[in-house]
This record gives sequence, structure tokens and C-alpha cells, in this order.
Amino acid sequence: MDVILFGPPGAGKGTQAKLLVETLAIPQISTGDMMRAERASGSALGKKFDEYMNQGLLVPDDLVLELFAQRLRRPDAAEGAIFDGFPRTVPQAEALDAKLGELGRRVDRVIVLEVPLDLIIERVTGRRVCLSCGQTYHVRYSPPPPSGECSSCGANDVVQRADDTEEKVRTRDAGYHRETLPILAHYEPTGVVAKIDGVGTIEEITARVLGALQRS
Ligand code: AMP
Repeated sequence: MDVILFGPPGAGKGTQAKLLVETLAIPQISTGDMMRAERASGSALGKKFDEYMNQGLLVPDDLVLELFAQRLRRPDAAEGAIFDGFPRTVPQAEALDAKLGELGRRVDRVIVLEVPLDLIIERVTGRRVCLSCGQTYHVRYSPPPPSGECSSCGANDVVQRADDTEEKVRTRDAGYHRETLPILAHYEPTGVVAKIDGVGTIEEITARVLGALQRS
């Protein structure tokens, strides 16, 4: 099964994707996590990503698509994947469809997490992330361990992302409306789009996501 978790930055896509990995037994493909890992490695490619990410701007499609194509070829994604933060532009969606098509697959479900901007700002500014494994925390709702070590992978790499400030969130949200939302019009005719309320506890939202998947 190939599922896109869709919604504005800070809607909870990463949190839900990590929970779905176990239930669906398919991997999460998060281009944002992959770019942060590349950046942390200090590579030339990582430095290029950094220029865009730090400003809250989208990384150009050609760079994203190369990264994505390599990831989709890995054996763990042979039966499907949960796409989180990808695709983010219509050309990325078209490239995803083409790559899946080559494998005899298609996007089975696009789950849209709907969350108002004021709540997104509260979620994102309190967010902390492990740069090693992508595990997320929130200073109020799910605080990172006081030791500073990630409860998921043990690395001492839990930080506030440089793009998780209110100003950058507003920039990213504007980019979402301008460049990412048109993807829905691309998928709506195929009947795969399901919109769900992204406000509530993590568990409540997981139940809604699973409900939307069962309806497919
Ligand atoms: P995320 O972790 O998904 O919120 O992504 C963080 C940042 O990485 C974004 O604001 C973009 O700068 C970049 N990024 C991640 N995924 C993509 C993508 N599919 N297309 C373009 N830029 C991306």
C-alpha cells in the first residue's frame, strides 16, 4: 500500500507516519528527515539543502527527486511506503506516480490532516526533533528525556529545528498553500483523497487515519 500523509508543516504527519510504520509494516519516507540526515553528514548536497531549509523554502524538485528515487529503490519499500512531506509540488506528485507506475503500483490513499494555523504554530514552536532518527517530541505534550538522549535511538541529538520558529512556520505555511495544496486537485479525480480532522490527541488522530485507510 502506498499512502501519502498530506497537510501543512506541523500538521502531525511525521508523528502519525512513525506510528503507522508498525501497523502497516511499510517504511516512512520523509524527504525532510532524509535532508536533515544529509545536512548533518556535512556533505556538499547537505549544504545545498541547508540554504533552502533554513529559510523555510522548498528545496528544488530535481534535488528532491534524486533523493526520493534512491530511497524508493531500497528493498524495504518493495511493498509500499508512507510518504511524509513528499510530494510537495505537482511535478513531484507526477514523478511519484510515474515511479510507482513503473513498479505496477499507484498512490492508494492521500490522507489530509487538517489543522488551523494557530495550533500549528503552537505545535511547531514547541517541537524538538532527534537529528539521528527523526523522532519528535513536544516540550509540553511529550517532552524529550531530561538526559537529552533520544528515547527511540539513544543519540544525544535532540534539538529545536532552525526552521521551527513562528516566522519560518508562516513562510512554510504560505509555501504549502501556494505550491503543495494544488496536489490535491491532481489526486481528487482518482477518489483517493480523504480529509480528516487533525486536531486532538495523537491517539485520536491515529484512529481517524486508520479509519480513513480502511475505507479505501
Ligand atoms: P519537513 O521536515 O517535511 O517539514 O521538511 C523540512 C524542510 O525540508 C522543508 O521546509 C523544505 O525546505 C525541505 N523539504 C522537505 N521535503 C521536501 C520536498 N518534498 N520538496 C521540497 N523541499 C522539501
